[in-house]
Amino acid sequence: MVRCWNCGKDLSKVNRTWKYGIFDVKEYICSCNAVTREYLKNGKPSFYLGNIKGKGGFKKVNPK
Ligand SMILES: [Zn+2]
Repeated sequence: MVRCWNCGKDLSKVNRTWKYGIFDVKEYICSCNAVTREYLKNGKPSFYLGNIKGKGGFKKVNPK
């Protein structure tokens, strides 16, 4: 289960997925407007990027 990096809410619905090099990316959008992107390598979470929807500037985050 992925939690929103901003408010800690459980994110069960994947907004979209794509491939980024060796990573599979899953994007979640929270009701608080925060975007969390999970980068998976070989099916295992590797790192997370987040921002506030529409504001650009993704940075590394640690989901709560
Ligand atoms: Zn949130």
